[in-house]
Amino acid sequence: MIQIARAHFEQLRAHASQAYPNECCGALLGEPGEPGSIRVREIVSCENAAAKPSTGYKIADEDLARIQRESRARGLQICGFYHSHPDHPADPSASDLSDPCWTGHYIITSVVAGVAAPGVAKETKSYRLLLENGSRRLLPEELQVLPEE
Ligand SMILES: [Zn+2]
Repeated sequence: MIQIARAHFEQLRAHASQAYPNECCGALLGEPGEPGSIRVREIVSCENAAAKPSTGYKIADEDLARIQRESRARGLQICGFYHSHPDHPADPSASDLSDPCWTGHYIITSVVAGVAAPGVAKETKSYRLLLENGSRRLLPEELQVLPEE
């Protein structure tokens, strides 16, 4: 299960709207909790460094290294990532399973063209990437949005 504050949830969905028709991406920072469960404490919006940002996302290595450094200094760790699927459901794509080199939690928001805003965020789902016997699996997990603290 992943737990995230309402403000952070809205923030990553807003990022998905703004990035449309491209994919957005960012990191989820949290504290280690119960095995398989994470409480997101901060989210870090990133530039999408993919060669074709409309169909994929990539966080530059130097960005990732900096986020890791800064989060460690504050007692947090990268517990996963978020990204968006423009004009596609919030289900994992083939590359979502093949690309990530981090086990952890992956939040996906689907977004469609909007009138007032570039994009309108639709459903948001979360998955947990597991490595089992050398093969990867993305398991749907409960996403709990917490009221303001
Ligand atoms: Zn994806």
